Amino acid sequence: MIKKPRKPSLELLTFLALAPRFPKHLPQYNYFERDLGKMQSGFIGERSVDYYLQLYARSHTNYLYHNLRFLTHESAYQMDTLLLTPFYILIIEIKNWGGVSLEFNQHQVKQIFQDGRIEIHDDPIIQVKRQRTNLMNLLEKLSFSHLPVEYLTVIANRNPELIFKDYPESDRIIRSSYLDFSILDFDKEHSVKILSPNQLSKINNTFLSTHKEKKINILDKYNLTADSITKGVLCPSCLTISMIRQKKSWLCIKCKYRNNSKSELLKALAQYSMLIGPSITHQQFKDFFQISTARHVSSLLGNLNLPSEGKTRGKKYRLDQLMTDMWI
Ligand SMILES: [Zn+2]
Repeated sequence: MIKKPRKPSLELLTFLALAPRFPKHLPQYNYFERDLGKMQSGFIGERSVDYYLQLYARSHTNYLYHNLRFLTHESAYQMDTLLLTPFYILIIEIKNWGGVSLEFNQHQVKQIFQDGRIEIHDDPIIQVKRQRTNLMNLLEKLSFSHLPVEYLTVIANRNPELIFKDYPESDRIIRSSYLDFSILDFDKEHSVKILSPNQLSKINNTFLSTHKEKKINILDKYNLTADSITKGVLCPSCLTISMIRQKKSWLCIKCKYRNNSKSELLKALAQYSMLIGPSITHQQFKDFFQISTARHVSSLLGNLNLPSEGKTRGKKYRLDQLMTDMWI
């Protein structure tokens, strides 16, 4: 059973919200584009692995969670996929590294590309073992320290040859197509039932209520200000910022797409909250979405029935709920 589906994270959605608004002439645009590409590729890799988890997604006694993120005293850890069964837990770290080959040495991975380029990554087994230690601490607090926690790294990309050089845990690094077989091996290894349905449900509730989505200040990250990004309403058809308010609807001056749905404006506001902040005033709305008259702003905002605080000019409309709706 899927208890937490795989959806683009708030972090990826924030990157996607900034993409059409990032001024391309700025030198930091290249870094942004590279980071966005990596994040998208990671998400595609994670999605491709789900095919091999279908059996567990249909099961009523095994629970699947995607992108659970828990806080620790010092920082946070995120697990790409977690399988909770009455017998054991399995953490799956997913990598979508491409290239010609991946050389696994102790403590690092050398990714070699066709053109000879080399990228060095941290050992994903060390990464997943750190997640395991943290998760075991959490289980201990819940009095389930006797529940075994297994771990695997799945290489989602089919292209690179996997080379292991003096690498002690090569059996825990597998290709996606082998994932269902690996899980069957763990099933055989852990045949003692440890959790009752009630205990399973207790852990499930803790997992879901402890999850904390990662929020980022993306403007700070790329040295941007609210005034330096492109303002206006994004056209959902041609994905440019070219919508104008005309005859009580939005018209794209580039592709002529016309739309008057509330949901597009709510989406735009959710993106605003990811980029700028969790609330918006009348004046900020007018400025960010480039609406010419105050009367139009009042009618648009009035129609959305957003929760608000304060009165007259200082009135702030809360956007937090819109954001949550997008990624939960
Ligand atoms: Zn358009």
